[in-house]
Amino acid sequence: MARVGFIGVGHMGGPMARNLTKAGHAVKVYDLSEEAMNFAVQSGGKAAASVQDAARGVEFVVTMLPVGDNVRAVFMGDGVLAAADPGTVLIDSSTIDVESARAVHAAAAERGYAMLDAPVSGGVAGAEAATLTIMCGGDKATFEKARPVLQAMGKNIVYCGGPGLGQVTKICNNMVAGIISLATSEAFVLGEKLGVARQTLFDVISTSSGSSFILNRNCPAPGPVPTSASSNGFKPGFRANLMLKDLRLSQAAAQTAGTATPLGAAATAAYALHVTRGHGELDSSSIIKLINPDL
Ligand code: NAD
Repeated sequence: MARVGFIGVGHMGGPMARNLTKAGHAVKVYDLSEEAMNFAVQSGGKAAASVQDAARGVEFVVTMLPVGDNVRAVFMGDGVLAAADPGTVLIDSSTIDVESARAVHAAAAERGYAMLDAPVSGGVAGAEAATLTIMCGGDKATFEKARPVLQAMGKNIVYCGGPGLGQVTKICNNMVAGIISLATSEAFVLGEKLGVARQTLFDVISTSSGSSFILNRNCPAPGPVPTSASSNGFKPGFRANLMLKDLRLSQAAAQTAGTATPLGAAATAAYALHVTRGHGELDSSSIIKLINPDL
């Protein structure tokens, strides 16, 4: 079993750190938030006094932070890269821009540390149940070394390629999910407006070419899927403001890569409008409210 330092124990990191403890790893936790720290310590983590303290004397450091700037700040300067023991494997599971991920990889390599970008999908429920999909970028040997730690937090552990390619994979998936959620919303509102019952639309689309994981698990129209967020007051789930964040990351990546993402751009604009209307804390499937505010 390994010694792990876990930095950023919020909605996702908290349950992920708890699953590491459950699997028998010795986990030191650190977060700026007192509330997050309390939860992590009650879940079996040992409180670290600082980023440096969390990074010292462990074999793995896992970070689960909001955005690229947080990840740069925690690793660079006098952060993790200045404090971790030689040979420590660094795993950043935050969803961040590809540029920051690659910059942190490069800084880690310069100091002789092996690193993975390892963003996750599956939301808080997946973090709690240790069923996350974890998309890893870095070298293959590091991936194999990190596997036992990753397996305590997720179910599908996927090697995506070199530095940053875990982030690229995650952003591509979420861009598709955002587009499909919006497209499905448009279809339900249109069909119902012209007189087709919501359930009939669901029964047909879910068994036809318009079917998708989004439709079957997280149908934006309330009712047909009782366990979906839409059938439960759009309680998240995966929040609309996180979907917007990931769509924006996809647009930044598309600009760097020089590829066209017309539907990704449309979905980004739609989610931006939806969030400015005050729906950022609702599940991402609430995008249907942009098409029909009465839902
Ligand atoms: P969160 O805000 O709940 O947790 C982030 C934690 O990081 C907070 O507790 C914050 O205090 C802490 N933090 C920030 N800066 C810090 C620093 N310098 N030192 C120590 N702690 C610091 O966010 P979350 O929902 O857990 O998301 C974390 C990451 O996971 C994000 O990148 C998000 O996009 C991604 N993600 C979230 C979900 C989801 O459903 N919530 C799903 C997949 C991926």
